[in-house]
Amino acid sequence: MPRGTTGGTPQVLLAHHLKQLKLPTVLREYDKVARECARDGVDHPRYLLRLIELELIDRERRMVERRIKAARFPAVKSFDTFDFTAIPTLNKMLVLELARSEFILRRENVIALGNSGTGKTHVALALGLAACQKGFTVSFTTAAALVHQLMEARDERRLLKTQRDLQAVKLLIVDELGYVPLSPTGAELLFEVFSQRYERGSTIVTSNLPFEDWTSILHSERLTGALLDRLTHHVHILTMNGDSYRLRQSSGNSRSPFSAEKGEQNQAIAEAVDPETGEISAT
Ligand code: ADP
Ligand code: MG
Repeated sequence: MPRGTTGGTPQVLLAHHLKQLKLPTVLREYDKVARECARDGVDHPRYLLRLIELELIDRERRMVERRIKAARFPAVKSFDTFDFTAIPTLNKMLVLELARSEFILRRENVIALGNSGTGKTHVALALGLAACQKGFTVSFTTAAALVHQLMEARDERRLLKTQRDLQAVKLLIVDELGYVPLSPTGAELLFEVFSQRYERGSTIVTSNLPFEDWTSILHSERLTGALLDRLTHHVHILTMNGDSYRLRQSSGNSRSPFSAEKGEQNQAIAEAVDPETGEISAT
């Protein structure tokens, strides 16, 4: 046995070296693949090739998983579970084109507009997932959470670092702009994020408010104008107006609309119930 390898059997050393080289799949599979190759009469280069290909496939999968985790999606949703027929105002061809993630390379934005429960968040999540799978870094947040994060960073004197992190991500998803009115400082900070990302990275925004009402949450007409100017310069608009998918599901599936399991559903229903008649209005 050559000097230097007396410390253990070749298997032990190999395991050690493969761990150091971060090749977990080679370590896990080399013995099994070797037996298969011996059985099939496959030569050494092909054996090595099979093994390395397995490592590459696994590595790609691990990286996608890491990007999904880093994106902090509230749920993992894809277009496989999205019913396009439920929302006829949505341009399916455009959405499927966006799912190819090329808009991220072109640093274009996407704005999904429509009333509550029409699948805006679902579409944003699915576009985010597709981007993770294509190799882009993604970050998901809501407008309220983002503003909160920025205010906190400012108070703790680390605003610059937070802004840089938000600028670096290839696709930033800002969900639910419009549900919570922002403070003037919050609106300024949000504007800065969009401004800093302008032509540097892609942003997806979902909102229940049409553009003309954005002033009501950002307060200043000047700020709203400047923000829309940047956000809509290179933009794909997804029009998502229609019946609430949540409402339709729950009123179709349960005897009483209030037996819906999720609090979220209950809230959506509560908002749509006519206090006079107790009937659900189709909004
Ligand atoms: P919004 O963000 O527009 O309020 P969501 O995306 O949160 O709506 O949709 C509400 C729920 O209904 C989610 O669970 C979502 O997955 C589901 N949903 C909405 N639209 C569709 C659709 N067209 N196909 C399948 N599920 C949908
Ligand atoms: Mg939503």
